[in-house]
Amino acid sequence: MLANPITWPNGARCAVAITFDMDSDSILYSDHADRASTMIGTASWLRYDQVAVPRILKLYQKHDIKQTFFIPGWTAERYAGIVREIVAEGHEVALHGYYHEKPNTLKPEIEKYWFEKSVDAISTVTGRKPVGFRAPSYRFSKHTLGYLLDAGLLYDSSLMSDDNPYLLADKGSGRTLVELPTDWSRDDWPQYTNNSELGYRMPIKSPRAAMEVFISEFDAAWAHGGMWVAVWHPFVSGRLARLMAVDEMLDYMKSKGGVWFATLEDIARHAREQIDQGHYAPMIDSVPFHDA
Ligand SMILES: [Zn+2]
Repeated sequence: MLANPITWPNGARCAVAITFDMDSDSILYSDHADRASTMIGTASWLRYDQVAVPRILKLYQKHDIKQTFFIPGWTAERYAGIVREIVAEGHEVALHGYYHEKPNTLKPEIEKYWFEKSVDAISTVTGRKPVGFRAPSYRFSKHTLGYLLDAGLLYDSSLMSDDNPYLLADKGSGRTLVELPTDWSRDDWPQYTNNSELGYRMPIKSPRAAMEVFISEFDAAWAHGGMWVAVWHPFVSGRLARLMAVDEMLDYMKSKGGVWFATLEDIARHAREQIDQGHYAPMIDSVPFHDA
């Protein structure tokens, strides 16, 4: 079913990356700045990240896999101890805005200001310059690609136009960036989030029902030589029953064999190498799609 399959390392059938977006309470300050400090209950729900992330790190240790965490700069500065634990375990930390601002709702110079501040924050806390980006709430703007290229980034993982890695080409300069696409079907938000104060009213699914959606996507990627990038949140999927289901999912994936568990950085480097060597001809999307 894939028109342009890519070859994965060591003959693997598919690539798997669970990515966690560790937003914590940053999302209150972008969307509800005027009342954020009064939203103690909702903030406590989001701050469950402090319990969930160490639990997720232990699960990764058990399965001996390295994965990617997208973290807003504000969150990284406030929960620096946890971020340093993530780094010490060998996982990747990538960019996710400064205070989870939505780039396509901002003026270009304001977007640039917060983007640069997020690069500084993540570089300072992790001790390493980040190479990847995911737009908060997938809100990629007409100007985002240019800022990512100017900062020398390797990849983006916000967009959804193909199954496997593809290239985003900047219409003005022709420069390209690797896109590692995902899809709402691999996001835990529609499965689990229900918060009356924030207006999220998804009927909460059982972990078994949610896993059916996620694993169907994985089985298809495995069958056709694809890539499976999950977009999850520690305070959502790191709850006990849900993370037990993730543990079982990892056992299942390993039992099928031929799965390359990798950080998005490693997948992006592999894709770029395959493209540069002429072994992979990806779809190329020029951004922005329309000027007006
Ligand atoms: Zn987020």
